[in-house]
Amino acid sequence: MTTRFDFGGVELVRIVEAEGPLLRPAEIFPDSTPEAIQANLDWLAPRFYDPVSDRLVIAIQSFLLKSHGRLILVDTCVGDCKTRVRPDFDQQHWGWLGKLEATGVRPEDIDVVVSTHLHVDHVGWHTRLVDGKWIPTFPNARYLFTHEEWAYWKEHEGHPGLVRTGDYVGDSVLPVFEAGLADLVGMDHEIDESVRLAPAPGHTPGHVAVEIRGTRMRALLTGDAFHHPLQCCYPQWSTRFCADAEHARRTRLSLLEACARDGTLILPAHFPGPTAGRVKRAEPGDRHAFHFEFQETN
Ligand SMILES: [Zn+2]
Repeated sequence: MTTRFDFGGVELVRIVEAEGPLLRPAEIFPDSTPEAIQANLDWLAPRFYDPVSDRLVIAIQSFLLKSHGRLILVDTCVGDCKTRVRPDFDQQHWGWLGKLEATGVRPEDIDVVVSTHLHVDHVGWHTRLVDGKWIPTFPNARYLFTHEEWAYWKEHEGHPGLVRTGDYVGDSVLPVFEAGLADLVGMDHEIDESVRLAPAPGHTPGHVAVEIRGTRMRALLTGDAFHHPLQCCYPQWSTRFCADAEHARRTRLSLLEACARDGTLILPAHFPGPTAGRVKRAEPGDRHAFHFEFQETN
């Protein structure tokens, strides 16, 4: 089912590549414990956690924004035909591009491609395979990358991540630079009067959220500041994939506090459908300081 949101002047459509049980809690969250999972099983299973396989339900998806007559694509999933170390991501044929086209949008219609950060599951469809070569999927788009993020991956600091996953920068990001379609921008870059980047560093050094200021409501695409609703209950849980776990923790906590205070709708990259929801502060007697409530539509 396609999920659409209308924020007033800005519309959002989820383009889902895959959604289902993917990672064991201990594999992604080093601080998680079987006891913590058990204690939350009443709301986790089956929507957010599959007890049979001991895997968290994770969505891999893009957000397509229509804003002021332009099409902005935020993150581009894992991609098809890519050689990756993780079997779940290797040589896949999910057909994400067909799902994008089913919404009436052709690749050449995309004006701006935003990467919240340069991880394997956010840049896959930046390129596609044509006659054995990786070429930019969106030939008329400007692809935005933050200075901080590109510097990290371009230099040696990011390289262990590429060894771990397969060289996705080589097949999914460098061809964009070679084609002259890349723009390096600040972490608070304004895309138009309603859509701008907002710094959310920690998971990676140049990680950004995307803030939408519609005439009806404000929303924040929080990228990988959160991977799972469990992190609203346990904000201290950073992932094994965070470049700076402590910085990621601080960013997550300040996002939770700000969004609980002003009621901003958040859309974290990996939350399963409908993805959008609000952070609520604990009521007296609650076991956690914050929790997350889905909002089906608006
Ligand atoms: Zn991710």
